[in-house]
Amino acid sequence: MIIQNLYSLAYHDTLTGLPNRKFLDPLLKMRFSEYHRLHQLFAVLFADIDHFHDFNGKYGHPAGDRMLKAFAHAATHSIRSTDTLGRWGGEEFIGIYPIKNRSDIIHIANRFQHMVEQAFIHHESHPLHITMSVGITSVQEGDTPESIIQRADKYMYEAKNQGRNTIVHDRVE
Ligand code: GH3
Ligand code: MG
Ligand code: MG
Repeated sequence: MIIQNLYSLAYHDTLTGLPNRKFLDPLLKMRFSEYHRLHQLFAVLFADIDHFHDFNGKYGHPAGDRMLKAFAHAATHSIRSTDTLGRWGGEEFIGIYPIKNRSDIIHIANRFQHMVEQAFIHHESHPLHITMSVGITSVQEGDTPESIIQRADKYMYEAKNQGRNTIVHDRVE
């Protein structure tokens, strides 16, 4: 029991309870080996909260912490059992989704957008929401764990440049 708890603590972020980088790194490696052995496709999502520095400044750091928790709560309740959403660091999150077709990233985008809209906290009796800039890409021949995350991160920055509250993903036929 104690060992199980320690195991769980080491692989989960203490604030949000989401899987942390230590959990996500080997999971991503496992998805790559499934892709190489079984041609099982997967997609990676990179999300960053918009203007979160200002959110903390305006409503206070504890409200920011509550917002991160509220988002994590919404995420864990809406995510499918085969999918994983973890905290990459700060206000950045990574999703890993096994997919059948590359066009499935459209559904991932729609579900994620809905989830972000659902998450809110009460602050001085007002509901507060956040928006996110998001990149989503499916695995390609020659990808490595680093390259797929870099591409999702690059899309996320494109979403920031397009005015934030935006999802940028691979072109899908
Ligand atoms: P952008 O839209 O460009 O992403 O703007 P931003 O303000 O979100 O970006 P920036 O990287 O400047 O700031 C990130 C902020 O996220 C600053 C930091 O205080 C906040 N943050 C990171 N981790 C936590 C946390 O655990 N709790 C709280 N409350 N805030 C956090
Ligand atoms: Mg950031
Ligand atoms: Mg940010």
